[in-house]
Amino acid sequence: MILSRTIADVKQILAAERRSGKRIGVVPTMGALHEGHLSLVRVIRPQCDHVVLWLFLNPTQFNSKADYDKYPRTLERDAALAKEAGVDLVFAPSVEEIYPDGLEAYYEKRSVRTYAGACSWGLCGAKRPGHFDGVVHIVAVLFNILQPDVAVFGEKDYQQLRVIEQLVRDMHYHIEIIAAPLIRAESGIALSSRNELLQKDSTAPLALSRALLSARDAAEQGETDAASIRELAAGIIRTAGLSIDYVEVTDIHTLAPVAEIRNEAQLLVAAYCGEVRLIDNIRLRTSGYNPSALKTNG
Ligand code: AMP
Repeated sequence: MILSRTIADVKQILAAERRSGKRIGVVPTMGALHEGHLSLVRVIRPQCDHVVLWLFLNPTQFNSKADYDKYPRTLERDAALAKEAGVDLVFAPSVEEIYPDGLEAYYEKRSVRTYAGACSWGLCGAKRPGHFDGVVHIVAVLFNILQPDVAVFGEKDYQQLRVIEQLVRDMHYHIEIIAAPLIRAESGIALSSRNELLQKDSTAPLALSRALLSARDAAEQGETDAASIRELAAGIIRTAGLSIDYVEVTDIHTLAPVAEIRNEAQLLVAAYCGEVRLIDNIRLRTSGYNPSALKTNG
C-alpha cells in the first residue's frame, strides 16, 4: 500500500492505473478510522481494481473551530488499518496542498467554490451553516483530483449521501455513488469517530439508537403519523439527558419533512451528549398506510 501526501504523486499513480484499464474506487474519510469506515472499503473493493482511501480532515466543513481542533487525528494507525483492509493507496494531503491560496480565500469567497443543493437545506444543513457547502466543495475537489469511477459513502451520514448524489447529478460527474449500510456497535450506537470523545462509561448516547428502534417498531405496528413518531423518539432521547438538535421524519430521497408516513420514510436525529454532537438515522416502514382504504372511506 502506498501512502501519498501530494496531488502530483497521486495523479501520476492513478494515471498509470487508468492506462492499464483499472477501475478506480475512492473511500472519502476524515480519518480516525473505525469499523464503519473499513466496511466502506469492503463494500467498494469488489466494485473496482484500485481502492484509494482519502484521509483529509477538511477544515471548511467544520462550523466550529473547537470541533475541528478536538477531532481525533490518528494518521499512523489509520494507514495501518487501511493496509490491513486491502486499500491500495492512502491519500492524506495537507491543508495547504488542498487550499493553495489559504483558507481565507475560501471563507472570503475569493476562490472558486461549489455549493450544496436543496437536499442540504434542512436537518444538519440548517443547524450547521456552511457545513454542506464545505462538504460538496471538498468532494468536488477530490473527484477532480482522483477522477474515480466509483465512490462510496455511508448511510451513517444519510443527508450527506443525498447531498453528494445531488452534486454528482447536477455537476454531471461520471462517477457511480454507492451507499453503504450504517454500522453499529453491539450496544446499538452508530460507529463514529466522535464516539472517541464520549465518556467511556456513559450510557446516555445509547438512547439515540434506542429511540430510533422504538420508532421503527411503532411504524411497523402501523403508526403513520410523523408527529407521533417524532414525539416518541424525542421523549426517549430527552429522558436520557441528551440535548436534542433535531428529530425529523422525511422523504427518503428529498429529505423534505413528511406529516404522514406513506409506506416508508427516514427518521433522522441529532443530539448533543455534553459537547459531543451525535447523529443517527433509520428507515421507517409502515404497514398502516393504505391509500385505497382511505379512498373507499371517502
Ligand atoms: P467521516 O470520516 O466521518 O467523514 O466518514 C467517512 C465516511 O464513512 C462517510 O461516508 C461516512 O458516512 C462513513 N461512515 C462513518 N461512520 C460510519 C458507520 N458507522 N457506518 C457506515 N458508514 C460510516
